[in-house]
Amino acid sequence: MKRIAVITSGGDAPGMNAAIRAVVRTGLDKGWDIIGVRHGYVGLCSDNVIPLEARDVGGILQQGGTMLGSSRCPEFMTEEGRLKALRTLRQHSIDALVVIGGNGSQTGAHALSQMDFPVVGIASTIDNDLYGSEITIGVDTALNIALDAIDRLKVTASSHQRAFIVEVMGRDCGYLALMAGIAGGAEVIVIPEVETDPEAMAAELRAAYGRGKAHGIIVVAEGAEYNAEKLSHYFEKHRGRLGFELRATILGHVQRGGEPTAYDRLLGTRLGAAATDYLVKGEHGILLGLVKGAIGATPLAEAVSRKKKLDLRLLELARVLAK
Ligand code: ADP
Repeated sequence: MKRIAVITSGGDAPGMNAAIRAVVRTGLDKGWDIIGVRHGYVGLCSDNVIPLEARDVGGILQQGGTMLGSSRCPEFMTEEGRLKALRTLRQHSIDALVVIGGNGSQTGAHALSQMDFPVVGIASTIDNDLYGSEITIGVDTALNIALDAIDRLKVTASSHQRAFIVEVMGRDCGYLALMAGIAGGAEVIVIPEVETDPEAMAAELRAAYGRGKAHGIIVVAEGAEYNAEKLSHYFEKHRGRLGFELRATILGHVQRGGEPTAYDRLLGTRLGAAATDYLVKGEHGILLGLVKGAIGATPLAEAVSRKKKLDLRLLELARVLAK
């Protein structure tokens, strides 16, 4: 092993920079050259790469996003695109690639690894929907941003006897909504994994007010059947069902851009360092993540073919806690 490349792909996540920095500095420490790929798989398909030295990754630890840039790259989904990517890697005599990203990016990493190129994946997505890591880089920061918003909305909701819908990210996975809802003390949590009945939700909120609560907070995942827009429309149409005013706040990309928390910096750093350690051992075709509380590896084939399950008992717990 002489030269390795590092890439960030898909949705950016706070803590990716810590992972890049750790790959670069632990790789340099092992005597390797490190190459950074710009803008995700787009940079790999279009030969957009830069050498990375220790100073190039200075001052990025505390920044959200990714200093390498990221993208969604339809070209890489085709065999032709991946052959172009392989050409770039070979042209620069790169021996292995570290892919920092979520589900889609790791599926791409697996495809490259099946073309006999050594790849190590690092689990990084704010959605926490990647099999092979209990928690992924970016989740903790995104959760804390959502919580901050919920705490503030609770204050204004209590002052005006209003209900607030807070929509958090999560296209297919309700993890962020569920955890932010529990940590923020939401009255109702709406996630894609569970069917929603707006009438039952209205009844729950009315009951909460009946018990003397001064606010009603509904945390919804963007991918839920009834997201913020649909719920707002529903209660607009059926005015009076709730018995109080409803306002919606969609957090959207605000959740991505925050400064990484200590947890995400440390997780990114540990996973980045582990990537070069695994490569030294000659291990690749794997995803690195948090397994039973420690850094562990899962074959990429397994990580991208299995679905991570959300513990739905927590939804019941949230209901009890909202009493
Ligand atoms: P994330 O990694 O955050 O889940 P995406 O799902 O958008 O983000 O995936 C990022 C990129 O990974 C895609 O734009 C594409 O280039 C690549 N990718 C996704 N799925 C595949 C696939 N099945 N085969 C090859 N590449 C893929």
